[in-house]
Amino acid sequence: MTRGVRMVMLGRQGAGKGTQCVRLSRHYVVPHISTGDMLRAAVREGTPLGRKAGELMAAGNLVPDDLMIDIVDDRLDRDDTTSRGYILDGFPRTVGQAEALDQITVSRPLDVVVDLDVATEVVLERLAGRRVCSDCSANYSVDTPPKYGWVCDNCGGDVVQRDDDTPAAIEKRLAEYEANTAPLIEWYGQRGLLEVIDGWGKADHVTARLFSAIDKRRSS
Ligand SMILES: [Zn+2]
Repeated sequence: MTRGVRMVMLGRQGAGKGTQCVRLSRHYVVPHISTGDMLRAAVREGTPLGRKAGELMAAGNLVPDDLMIDIVDDRLDRDDTTSRGYILDGFPRTVGQAEALDQITVSRPLDVVVDLDVATEVVLERLAGRRVCSDCSANYSVDTPPKYGWVCDNCGGDVVQRDDDTPAAIEKRLAEYEANTAPLIEWYGQRGLLEVIDGWGKADHVTARLFSAIDKRRSS
């Protein structure tokens, strides 16, 4: 079996991270850990964390650092991640979170941090057309819908527009991303972990660029 990888995926919402992370997860046989999906699942299940996070996200706000760090610490402690690795998506979002991740992963440090780079104008257009499966979080769009109506090809779940994909919430998240993530990208760059990948163009081409950048970075 191919070696795993320990990586963080950065990029604006709508850069195609979801699609690419699923492909990378299959290729390297590591879990795709989307903190956004974990939070939305908690909201659906109505857990105490989910209720708290739900209120914040409905208002277009981010969940506080300490809460996110606990969630990630817990997830990275499971057997699948300790044995194979992981693709972290949605965390870290700030330098503070990255420092916490450094502590969490001190015995098994990151191989690479990818910045999937797509221009803001492009992601705004993509986000407006984005649809997701409400059960398994598979990605679709108005241009690439499921085969039968708005029913998920994978699991039969309802394919919908996310509650937080309103224009106002999208603009707010993008502005927050710019403010927080620019320093984060610089921080990882200084540590020699960063690979900036052009996320524009056909998904297959982007995947090929990712494989080659990641393979170069994986430690044995
Ligand atoms: Zn589904």
